[in-house]
Amino acid sequence: MRKSGGPELAALRPQSRPEPAALLGWYDAHRRTLPWRAASGAQADPYRVWLSEIMLQQTTVTAVQPYYARFLARFPDVNSLASAPAEAVMQAWAGLGYYSRARNLHACARTVVAEHGGRFPATLEGLLALPGVGPYTAAAVGAIAFDLPAAAVDGNVERVISRIYRVEEPLPGAKPRIRALTQALVPARRPGDFAQAMMDLGAMICTPRRPACGVCPWMGPCAARAAGDAESFPRKAPKKAVPSRFGAAFVCVRADGAVLLRTRPPEGLLGGMDEPPGGAWRESDAMPATVELLQEAPFDAPWRLAPGGVRHVFTHFRLELAVFVAIVAPDFAAPAGIRWVRRADLAGSALPNVMRKAVAHGLAFAGGAEPGAA
Ligand code: SF4
Repeated sequence: MRKSGGPELAALRPQSRPEPAALLGWYDAHRRTLPWRAASGAQADPYRVWLSEIMLQQTTVTAVQPYYARFLARFPDVNSLASAPAEAVMQAWAGLGYYSRARNLHACARTVVAEHGGRFPATLEGLLALPGVGPYTAAAVGAIAFDLPAAAVDGNVERVISRIYRVEEPLPGAKPRIRALTQALVPARRPGDFAQAMMDLGAMICTPRRPACGVCPWMGPCAARAAGDAESFPRKAPKKAVPSRFGAAFVCVRADGAVLLRTRPPEGLLGGMDEPPGGAWRESDAMPATVELLQEAPFDAPWRLAPGGVRHVFTHFRLELAVFVAIVAPDFAAPAGIRWVRRADLAGSALPNVMRKAVAHGLAFAGGAEPGAA
């Protein structure tokens, strides 16, 4: 493999223009079948395209598929989503993470119904004005659902383009350049298929490791393939160290198995989702002392620390939660703002993954603990 960055490689640029027709020909033969994708030649449903694009942000195709199917069964069109209560939307989203997406999704559906008569706007400007719709989503929905000549640049496309042109500037700084390079390739005919073909090429052929250059429709013009250093693209800025935060979750279990949950405020991280009551999450190098965490207990109960705790990685920090458990009598009254949730109803509650893990950890401990033990 040749080293990158030398003057001889600086001159390496696509020997020829990557032809959209070559990519579209490959796409026609090899396109992925995805539940939100229209059949070949059929018009895509903007609602399904938009829903899938929001779900796919920060989440893999494999992880999204079961959520998408359940969500669509529950909210088959934008009207049903717009008229649903917020709790039902959060419930259907629980487990997918990045919960602001669900809040924006709901707000967007309401805007489409209230301001656009239930039809998604068919222009980039109109799409961009919708809640939770940024430049990428607007371009993806615009191209796929309305055949607008927009460059939808996701991580797959960044990889493909950065390799073809050997873009030396690291991400994220290179994003505007990569978008401009992509936009210059968007054909006037079939821009929606072109957008999906780019995504498929990145997902199926131009993979992060061991790209299948030998069967790539753009192997001819690809500068990184010629240089033999495709895997080193896209260049990435060194990662910053991810800080750690620590906190406590208090899992109160009634003798009949019900658990006390509350709903987080609508704004902020995990906004509108359910959780066992807990204290503040503080940035630190280590878990605070148990006595200190216990001062944050939301009410008096025979709290005991469940060994082990729960760990979860968010985008910008790692979280470690100490889990305290109390087993209380059947007549224990729920404090203000907290409610009893029966064990059988826990699966249907809007618990995000980290809180689901905390509740499960507490219940596992409670299963082996003596009720009411101090
Ligand atoms: S030739 Fe290889 S590196 Fe270049 S775009 Fe195709 S798969 Fe990616």
